[in-house]
Amino acid sequence: MLANYNRSAKALSELLQREGVEDSQVLTAIATIPRHIFVDDVLQHKAYQNTALPIGQGQTISQPYIVARMTELLRLAGVRNKVLEIGTGSGYQTAVLAKSFAKIYSVERIKALQWQAKRRLHQLDLYNVVMKHGDGWQGWQSQAPFDGIIVTAAAANIPQELLAQLADGGVLLAPIGEQQQKLVMVIRNGERFTEHVIAPVRFVPLIPGDIE
Ligand code: SAH
Repeated sequence: MLANYNRSAKALSELLQREGVEDSQVLTAIATIPRHIFVDDVLQHKAYQNTALPIGQGQTISQPYIVARMTELLRLAGVRNKVLEIGTGSGYQTAVLAKSFAKIYSVERIKALQWQAKRRLHQLDLYNVVMKHGDGWQGWQSQAPFDGIIVTAAAANIPQELLAQLADGGVLLAPIGEQQQKLVMVIRNGERFTEHVIAPVRFVPLIPGDIE
């Protein structure tokens, strides 16, 4: 572990606050989670910069700003309890979610990434997370409904199966589009789904079908 990671994580949290993140729970999560354990040794010196980084398998650990902002958006929408994450990846976003909501369900299609993320979360004593190796397009039917659903890979269209797994009053956040992506928020009221476009974003694609 970097000896001075505490200071680096705190500085990152302060930077995100200057960039407009306001939720204190989220800012505290960023200030206390050692992001360097979620990247390869050779990239550790970049772990507290506000940038996405490669994590192998053609995937990336998301930019801290977008991790914090998406988590904050769910909290601002009133989500507190059950959150489904699609695309565990490094597990960093999962850790931030674990410190911001009561219970996290996270689905990843690449077994090696899922296994590594699980180990990291245990290392941080975050036990309110359950993980599944599976296809995120299908969500996690047996644990539905969810108060919040966060997708951290981009799909051409909003996965309908995920909307079906939202609780009444629940909120889905997902990057939608291929070349041009937008972060979209969908709020469920009974059988009515209201869509809001939040901002342009850039994520790796949500892969259809098979798992690895
Ligand atoms: N939040 C993660 C982002 C990882 S990148 C982080 O910050 O580390 C997106 C992740 O989504 C990758 O790990 C990729 O393997 C995963 N993914 C892509 N398509 C998927 C699918 N259909 N089901 C589950 N996971 C998927």
